[in-house]
Amino acid sequence: MSLRDILTAQIHAQGPMRLDDYMSTCLLHPQHGYYTTATPFGTAGDFITAPEISQMFGELTGLALAQAWLDQGAPAPFTLAELGPGRGTLMADALRATSRVSGFVEAAEITLLEASPALREVQANTLKGHTPRWIDRISELPEQSTFLIANEFFDALPIRQFVRDGSHWRERHVGVTDGQLTFGLGPAQPQPALAHRLEDTKDGDLIEDCPAAAPLLSTISTRIATHGGAALVFDYGDWRTLGDTLQAVQDHAPADPLDSPGQADLTAHVDFEALLQAVPPCTASRVTPQGVFLERLGITARAQALAKSLSGAALEAHVAAHRRLTHPQEMGNLFKTFGIVPQGAAMLPGLET
Ligand code: SAH
Repeated sequence: MSLRDILTAQIHAQGPMRLDDYMSTCLLHPQHGYYTTATPFGTAGDFITAPEISQMFGELTGLALAQAWLDQGAPAPFTLAELGPGRGTLMADALRATSRVSGFVEAAEITLLEASPALREVQANTLKGHTPRWIDRISELPEQSTFLIANEFFDALPIRQFVRDGSHWRERHVGVTDGQLTFGLGPAQPQPALAHRLEDTKDGDLIEDCPAAAPLLSTISTRIATHGGAALVFDYGDWRTLGDTLQAVQDHAPADPLDSPGQADLTAHVDFEALLQAVPPCTASRVTPQGVFLERLGITARAQALAKSLSGAALEAHVAAHRRLTHPQEMGNLFKTFGIVPQGAAMLPGLET
C-alpha cells in the first residue's frame, strides 16, 4: 500500500486532514515518510543544503559556537546539540574546525535531535570517532550548558494554513475528490491565537502557523537561560508570513505538494516573528542575512586559504560554492540567521542585538 493509498483511506474514514497532519505523515511516516526512507540530501538527492555545499559552512558556524563557549568561561561538560542534522556533515565540519579550540571538543557531549532512523545511521557513520547521543524530543536535552545549531530544521516542521473569512478563519485541509488528493477549506471559526493577524490581513488572505516551532525554541531558550549556552538558527523565511509558502521539491525541481506524498520534500517559510516570540528569557540577535553573517565570520579569507590547494574543476566548484552560500541572489539573502544567548552574555560573533 502506497502512502497515497494510506492517506486516501484515512480521509475516507475520518474526513479531511489538517495540513500539519498531512505534512508530518508525508515527512515522517514510519515506512513511507520522506525523511524515513530517502537520503534526500546532496547533489544526488532532491535538494542541497548549506553544509553540503561547502565545508566552510560547518567550520565557521562551529567556530562561532566555540567563541560563545569561550566567552562564557568554557563550561565543561556541555551539550553540543544539533536539530535535524541531515547527513551529519555540519557537525563533522564543526568538530574538525573546533578541534583547535583547546578543550572544546573534549568537553562537548554531542546530542542530536533526529526523527529519522535512516538518517541517524547516516549521521553515526559521518561522525565515526565521536560518540553522539540521539534524542526524540527537545525536552530530553540535558540540564546543562547547551550550545546548539539548527540549519533548515524549522522549515521542515508541519504548518497549518488559515484563510480569513470576516473576523473568522477557515482552515485549509487535504481531502479526496474523484480519487485525487485535493485542498479544501473547513468551516469559518474564530481563532483566538490568530487575533493579532486580524490587524494586517483582509478577507481571503492566507496565513500560516507552525504549532511546534515556538514551544521548541522556548524549551531551548529556557535551557540556555538557566545553564548558559547559545543557539544559532539558519532558515529561509520572512518576518510575519502572509500567503501560501508550502513547497514541495523533488529532483531539485518544484513539485505539487499533493502529487507524490512521501516522495517530495515538503517545507514552508519560517515566520521569524512567531519564532522570536519564544526567545525570552534569552536575548536574540537581529535576524541577519546568511551572506552577511558568513562574511563577518571571515568566509572570504577561509575560501582563499582553501583555494590555494585547489585547481581546475575543484577550484571552480569551490569558488561557486562560496558564491552560492553568500551572494544576495543565491542563498545569501534568502537564508537568514539569528542567535540567542543568556541575557547579559556576549552575542555570538557576526551577530548583533
Ligand atoms: N540540517 C541538515 C538537514 C536539513 S533537512 C542540513 O542542513 O543538511 C531536515 C532535518 O530535520 C532532517 O535531518 C530530518 O530528518 C529532520 N527532521 C525533520 N522533522 C523533524 C522532527 N519533527 N524532529 C526531528 N527531526 C526532524
